[in-house]
Amino acid sequence: MDMQTKLTAAREIETTSQSVQTPVPAGHARLRLAVASLCGTDLHYYAHFANAGFVLQNPVTLGHEACAYVTDPNGSDLAVGQLVALNPIMNCQTCDPCLRGEENLCTAKKFPGSATTVPHLDGFFRDVIDHPTRCCRPVARHVDPRHLTFAEPMACALHALNKGGVSKGHKVLVTGCGPMGLLAIAGAVARGADVTAIDLRTGAVDVARKAGAHHGLVIGEFDEADLDRKFDVVVEASGAIPAFNTALKAVRQKGRVSILSNIQLREAKVNLNLIMLKEIEVSGSFQFNREFEEAVQLIEAGSVDFDVLTAQAFPLGQVGDALELMASGAAFGKIIILASET
Ligand SMILES: [Zn+2]
Ligand SMILES: [Zn+2]
Repeated sequence: MDMQTKLTAAREIETTSQSVQTPVPAGHARLRLAVASLCGTDLHYYAHFANAGFVLQNPVTLGHEACAYVTDPNGSDLAVGQLVALNPIMNCQTCDPCLRGEENLCTAKKFPGSATTVPHLDGFFRDVIDHPTRCCRPVARHVDPRHLTFAEPMACALHALNKGGVSKGHKVLVTGCGPMGLLAIAGAVARGADVTAIDLRTGAVDVARKAGAHHGLVIGEFDEADLDRKFDVVVEASGAIPAFNTALKAVRQKGRVSILSNIQLREAKVNLNLIMLKEIEVSGSFQFNREFEEAVQLIEAGSVDFDVLTAQAFPLGQVGDALELMASGAAFGKIIILASET
């Protein structure tokens, strides 16, 4: 039996059988979920029915990180049975940002499982998915779907690294070792940077070391003054205000601070004077563009050990339990969702 999940209210996931009789929409392929994964954005919607100031207007299927098998190519070049990575950014292809190759900033973008798209589009936490064929990236046969689900979050991390200009030999500090921070660490290490990771939680710093961080620091166990002006680039991946101040302190003169974290609406006390005094470049990072392709290629090449970045796997029917575990903060690394058996 095919299954679908819906967030019906804060902390309420409803799981029902999915019956799909409608024809596949033009330009779309019909897919069967292989593996999906949970993101901080899903967690915000789950906990608050809202994210970054956008409130959901009706129940929606969460999930924008997934890979799937093609069941109906619907006249496209895709092959039945082919594993594809799903790019969730459905851009208009005609607005100015799209024409500049900045589909993350598309003014008419559609994104699944998000209140930013009205009417909302269902996300990927369901067995049967119709997705635009141009947003389906076929992969080599040997790719493990448990790794391929990292394509979207890895693309976000790579975009932040690109905004920070991270390259070989750079000293890079990553503040926050949640799933996004870990992917930024793995991506920076893959580029040959010297990476230091910081988190409040010893367990998260341990995983950061496994992800390749050369140095791991637990907040409260070192002197912040030792970090002063030590880093070419700081990637802020925690969303915590004290981490912004650490970043501004730790970055060198004319260095860059790249904001990868999902920032919620709030007032914050940040030492803006350091941006002036050190001529720091602070850069926002929102989703990704060409980095989706970069991420898929990194996964195909096997350059990152995604198994050490995976905290736990849940079946599709237990998405609610998976989100509760994520909310508890007890999971270090990514939580992945396996399709229900057919
Ligand atoms: Zn995400
Ligand atoms: Zn556009």
